Amino acid sequence: MLRLFYSAISQVNSIQRLLGESSWGVKGPETPSQASPYHLFSNADEVARFRASLLSWYDQAKRDLPWRRRAAGETDPDRRAYSVWVSEIMLQQTQVATVIGYYTRWMQKWPALQDLAGASLEEVNQLWAGLGYYSRGRRLQEGARKVVEELGGHMPRTADMLQKLLPGVGRYTAGAIASIAFGQVTGVVDGNVTRVLCRVRAIGADLGSPLVTQHLWRLAQQLVDPARPGDFNQAAMELGATVCTPRGPLCPECPVRGFCQAQKRVTKEQAVTSQRLLGSPEQETLDVEECAPQRAGLCPLCLPPSEPWRQDLGVANFPRQPARKAPREQRAAVCILQQPGSETSRFLLVQRPSSGLLAGLWEFPSVPAEGTESVQRQALVKALRSWVVGPLPLKSLRCLGEVVHIFSHIRQTYVVYSLALEEPTQGQPPSGARWVSRAEFQAAAVPTAMKKVHQLFEGQPSGRRKASKSPQDPATSGPGPGRQHRQLTLSAFFKSAAAP
Ligand code: SF4
Ligand code: ZN
Repeated sequence: MLRLFYSAISQVNSIQRLLGESSWGVKGPETPSQASPYHLFSNADEVARFRASLLSWYDQAKRDLPWRRRAAGETDPDRRAYSVWVSEIMLQQTQVATVIGYYTRWMQKWPALQDLAGASLEEVNQLWAGLGYYSRGRRLQEGARKVVEELGGHMPRTADMLQKLLPGVGRYTAGAIASIAFGQVTGVVDGNVTRVLCRVRAIGADLGSPLVTQHLWRLAQQLVDPARPGDFNQAAMELGATVCTPRGPLCPECPVRGFCQAQKRVTKEQAVTSQRLLGSPEQETLDVEECAPQRAGLCPLCLPPSEPWRQDLGVANFPRQPARKAPREQRAAVCILQQPGSETSRFLLVQRPSSGLLAGLWEFPSVPAEGTESVQRQALVKALRSWVVGPLPLKSLRCLGEVVHIFSHIRQTYVVYSLALEEPTQGQPPSGARWVSRAEFQAAAVPTAMKKVHQLFEGQPSGRRKASKSPQDPATSGPGPGRQHRQLTLSAFFKSAAAP
């Protein structure tokens, strides 16, 4: 037993040695002691100059965004933290330009935590519709309720407590709220900061490696400005979003260019290529710092030997992107069921389960599209019968075409059918179903994918025609041009065929 204990202690000690002291002699459990100085900031003076350059750029170049305005003008710390929290949750996986409108509508409707705590989930889903990753809105509301009901209406004041107590608040979001709203001196690492730090310190190793993650957080913590932590964090993110972009970074305009190892590496590689082209012997005269352990292929932070430098990528060699996993293919048959109304026809919507993908949202009735078309039709009709009492004019069940929507990990194809009832239905629909007009459909808590299905039905173009690279972005995903054209033609054909 004792031997086991000592063996465990010795393992812990080895790990501590591995992660031990930073180059500043500060105990830094997240910084590997073997990290070459090449991937670190060498001294406090360099850090101070880096902070000053970044902050002075940010003061001049920062974008005027509604959440920044709100946080800057709000004197109540809980309201300020709430306004940052909402923006940070909305900005996860979503572009700034898309978030602005949603954020503005949200804060008009629920300007304080107490307002959001009193809202229904249906209202939250309705306002969130089209923003994607719907569980974010639900968790935000759960968190607001928790603050109001269990924490006396006061937001936790530190990153640790925010992460511990609020649902949906991870390490990054907690650090952003704590630094921006409460001035806590804590660094943050999001996708933009990762890119900036990887380039500035030439980190090319696999981003999924825990060692790289620890190193990035440690760097962020070392760099964050103690006097203006919130501004510093926003400045680093702003730099990644507007200057140090994934493709085509604007290095000549970059305020931290002088600190950037990626830039120096580009210069060095170009010089080496020129020397080779001129047939000169390779010299060691290029005064560019290098990672010493990498010479022996032993650095856990450099580009791995299996992925050598690519001239065409330039600074974008850092960070090296892991190969993307192809999204899973899924198909569903979906039916737009209409019934005649006194003024306008109405569509049947059914509610999705309260957990899982698109939880609680409303959609047209659908079934997994398996087997032949005839099998799909039968399954769809069976599903429709569970929602509607009375005869279904099955001869009018028409296939309009297909709509593709990319979720984060799923490529979903909807085979779209339509069916128009000849008579209005009698009585109330069963629980979990409702009939809506066109206007009600537009305002309902309906996911983007169903809006696209409806657009196909209406014969409208559904935004740009290319499949999205940004998952769930309503403006950027859709079927290819050929298919879209075919869909429009078919839709128009059926509409005119159905006209009296
Ligand atoms: Fe990014 Fe270029 Fe600035 Fe380096 S110099 S941080 S690569 S924009
Ligand atoms: Zn290295």
